[in-house]
Amino acid sequence: MRTPIGLVLHHTGGSFAGDLATLTKPAKNPANSVSSNDYITKDGRIFELCEYPKRAWHAGTTKALHGLKDWNAHGWGIEIENRGRSSDPYPRVQIEAVVWRCRERRRRFGITDPKMLTRHRDLSLEGKNDPWNNFPYDEVRRRVFAAQDPTDSPSTPHTPTGENVTVSSLIVARPRAEQRQAARFLAARPHGSYSDAAVRHIVRLYYAEASAVGADPLLAVAQMFLETGGLSSTWSQPPRRNPAGIGVTGETGKGISFPNWRVAVRAHVGRLVAYAVRERDETPAQEALIDEALAWRPLPDAYRGVAPRLRGLAGTWAADREYAQKIARIANEIRSGG
Ligand SMILES: [Zn+2]
Repeated sequence: MRTPIGLVLHHTGGSFAGDLATLTKPAKNPANSVSSNDYITKDGRIFELCEYPKRAWHAGTTKALHGLKDWNAHGWGIEIENRGRSSDPYPRVQIEAVVWRCRERRRRFGITDPKMLTRHRDLSLEGKNDPWNNFPYDEVRRRVFAAQDPTDSPSTPHTPTGENVTVSSLIVARPRAEQRQAARFLAARPHGSYSDAAVRHIVRLYYAEASAVGADPLLAVAQMFLETGGLSSTWSQPPRRNPAGIGVTGETGKGISFPNWRVAVRAHVGRLVAYAVRERDETPAQEALIDEALAWRPLPDAYRGVAPRLRGLAGTWAADREYAQKIARIANEIRSGG
């Protein structure tokens, strides 16, 4: 994808878990699949699902509009969590997140013409009507191109709040902190030979891979931080890249090395989800990731689904009785950083 010259707003027609599964399904035939660059939840979290410069297939067949023929190739797609029914309003916090993200994207891509913030309904040749249901398009567009906006302030109104992480927190859950908070936390602490950019890349992988299977990436990152001493342990450094002591027993040289961080993060997250979800409850996406992860190292049957909540990891993943408390403490430290 070349630098996008337009932004396209959508509603998903669904809700969180199903949306993420749909939007992250691998595309065999682009014409039959959907993907999106961004996904913005009802509580204002922003996921970059299809990282620039990869292009997403979000607009289907489009008509030429404002001089642009192919809005998939040249438009940045933003999916907004909404069922598209009048019984499902857009919460204020979500609108603020949309405004914030569109302003950020418009600056990043140098989009100056308000016309180029458009809606799927404006360009679809397939009768798409999204975003529908009282979506305040005029307000959003006006604010996105205004010289200043309340969302420019560092205490952005869309910053997620919510409960602190405890040992009772569910592992399969929405993210409890934003990706940038986790990245900042790790980058600000010693991380061995990794550059800050590498640390941000690793955090981004966690957010993508965990979110795709409905797990809270914050908990996976916090566990990784605990297991690797903030990416400074020998086992987490290249060439081993082991994110969570997988197969590491303390016996000299015993443990698994991973060829790259995407593979490593998938092995970690898949293993974590295997602890969190019983076999009969797993979704197809979870099943696929778990299979991949357990191919690196099998999991005793007794551990499958033993940890729907953080506390279940204590005495199973690690012998340490305080293991869940320690993860929760790190997760809350990440949450409290802006
Ligand atoms: Zn759409």
